[in-house]
Amino acid sequence: MRVIICGGGVIGASIAYFLGCRGVQSIVIERTGVACAASGKSGGFLALDWCDGSPLAALARRSFALHARLPAEIGDDYGYRRMTTFGGLAEHRIAGRPRRPRFDIEWLSDDVTLNHRLGSAETTAQVHPGRFTAAMMRAAQARGAELRLGCVTGVALGNGHSVRGVEVDGDIVEANAVVIAMGPWSVLAARWVPLPAVFGLKGHSLVFATADRIPAEAVFLEYRDPAGAVHTPEVFPRPDGTTYVCAISSESPLPVDPAEVAPDPGAIERLHAMCAHLSPVLRDSTIVAQQACHRPITADGLPLIGPVAGVENAYVATGHSVWGILNAPATGEAMAELVVDGTARTVDLSRFDPGRLAPLTAVRRSR
Ligand SMILES: Cc1cc2nc3c(=O)[nH]c(=O)nc-3n(C[C@H](O)[C@H](O)[C@H](O)COP(=O)(O)OP(=O)(O)OC[C@H]3O[C@@H](n4cnc5c(N)ncnc54)[C@H](O)[C@@H]3O)c2cc1C
Repeated sequence: MRVIICGGGVIGASIAYFLGCRGVQSIVIERTGVACAASGKSGGFLALDWCDGSPLAALARRSFALHARLPAEIGDDYGYRRMTTFGGLAEHRIAGRPRRPRFDIEWLSDDVTLNHRLGSAETTAQVHPGRFTAAMMRAAQARGAELRLGCVTGVALGNGHSVRGVEVDGDIVEANAVVIAMGPWSVLAARWVPLPAVFGLKGHSLVFATADRIPAEAVFLEYRDPAGAVHTPEVFPRPDGTTYVCAISSESPLPVDPAEVAPDPGAIERLHAMCAHLSPVLRDSTIVAQQACHRPITADGLPLIGPVAGVENAYVATGHSVWGILNAPATGEAMAELVVDGTARTVDLSRFDPGRLAPLTAVRRSR
């Protein structure tokens, strides 16, 4: 059996890894570079129970457990560690008003009040997302997967409604099954097979060289800027001596070429000013990356993980929104089960069935 996976982000790499664990050969076809998009530019924050009470709960809990065992299983170091997580508020302080922090954290400015412990080392953790994705791809390759650079431009159908392979830069690459895992670019595949819409919501981030000045404490804030606008910055110090901060979302359109994703004008400057206000350590640290990426989202906010309706042996795995790094391992494991055994055993995928949403082409035709 040969499976083609379109897209070398965290979801594609995780599917390739778990297929490899089942002895199934896969070819990952990536247009630009492994982890070039959100999978390399996201926070990499992981939580055991933050999806509890939602349809994502079982996927997230399974994934959190897989993340804990993967560093030893694949023998790689990509900055996995447990951490404490705090939440609070930040605003320009009114002179003379005393600050009443519940948790006093030295590296934050006096205008930040942390009043919740959102997670402990038992329930929250992190990876460096780009290094995790690359490590999963290497581990997949060690188990027989092949990585090819190329742009997927179509799905090739055989007799009836069965998949024969994909078109890559004009040539057909044959396979017994195809998985679309192109993040927000999966929307392109809605022209090839009946798939619901996938959107890209843009986020901006900065990475600072902070050495050992910020301990393993993740911080989620509600920040009111001087103009009164509210933002929700997330701060993740990493074991490699850097600190990642993201905020400022926008609905700027997704370029067809992932290499063309760039920050919105002024967004990086606004984010930098916010960081300087939040922490003197960030204010005084060198910026090592300023970037933007698009998280893949669907109309109902849940991922699409399952078979493409009406096309035999075609599958999709995307739309993981803000939890793609967390939920990649359990998605990869369940997709491998679905493709190889015909059903997912470790996680019930029924809530993520792509058939629950109308295909984009059908929606267009009905207008
Ligand atoms: C600012 C921000 C912070 C985030 N923080 C977190 C976090 O802390 N924790 C968490 O769990 N999640 C987080 N996320 C979400 C997470 O990053 C995404 O859900 C996840 O990376 C999506 O992975 P993916 O593999 O589906 O897509 P992508 O990473 O977008 O990968 C898709 C791949 O497909 C390739 N591709 C596109 N078109 C083609 C084509 N035609 N042919 C071949 N290949 C193609 C692209 O080049 C790309 O490499 C964050 C997202 C953002 C935006």
